[in-house]
Amino acid sequence: MPFLRHIALGAWYYASLPWRRRLARKNGAPITILFYHRVADEHSNAWTISNRQFERQIQWLKQHVELISLEETQRRIRTGDSPRPAVALTFDDGYAENCDHALPLLVKERIPCTYFVASRFVMNQQPFPHDVLAGTPLPVNTPEQIRALARAGFEIGAHTRSHADLGCVRDRRSLQDEVVGARHDLESITGQRVRYFAFPFGLHRNLNANAFRLAHEVGYEAVCSAYGGYNHPGGDPFHLQRFHADPHLLRLKNWVLVDPRKEYRTSPFHYLPLPVKKARTEPVT
Ligand SMILES: [Zn+2]
Repeated sequence: MPFLRHIALGAWYYASLPWRRRLARKNGAPITILFYHRVADEHSNAWTISNRQFERQIQWLKQHVELISLEETQRRIRTGDSPRPAVALTFDDGYAENCDHALPLLVKERIPCTYFVASRFVMNQQPFPHDVLAGTPLPVNTPEQIRALARAGFEIGAHTRSHADLGCVRDRRSLQDEVVGARHDLESITGQRVRYFAFPFGLHRNLNANAFRLAHEVGYEAVCSAYGGYNHPGGDPFHLQRFHADPHLLRLKNWVLVDPRKEYRTSPFHYLPLPVKKARTEPVT
């Protein structure tokens, strides 16, 4: 992050902290869900953070927020009971190096985590096309690793079969393959029920109302986007909105402790013909 932006963000973060704390005291703290992709020290890229950065983030999060599961996130959204700043952790795609340090650290610290996997790459042991294009075909998790993660208490979630942009998928058969087939693949690997689905890329343009409906019909408990929105008590527990886990700790702190500017700028993706209960957007008083 450029130096001047860092200074400006730091000033904003510390000046707005009292405002953010008042929100939490009102039992209405929005819940932040973070998504990581790859934690590794080699072949750094836009979707990788180093082991040291990850460890620093986990230590800060442990001290300043409650670390909760997606299931507990949904419970707080449904009941409106959210007395403290809380964060749920997720990973997307299924990179092998996550099993070296990052995931064992979460096990050691007993921090819940949902691990979203694009199933075909794991089953066929193929690198992701975006890594091949970038010239670094990074290793993906093996089915044995996914099974071991499920046994260690990680919630394994579906992230399509082929990492497709579902915003472009129109036919029902392809949607069925990506949304339902991916779950079938992962359940056959882990022997456990797959309850959550995350849209690849996850911006508004990558979401698809038919995929939301299909996921609901076939029994997923929630689907996740990735455009950077908060989850409000009393809001929609089926659509869980996530933030990218920024490698810069200051920016991460700023999102996690609920930046009021982000509150106003993001709007939830509406996927049902019925009106979705409106998210809280009032300023903190
Ligand atoms: Zn992905």
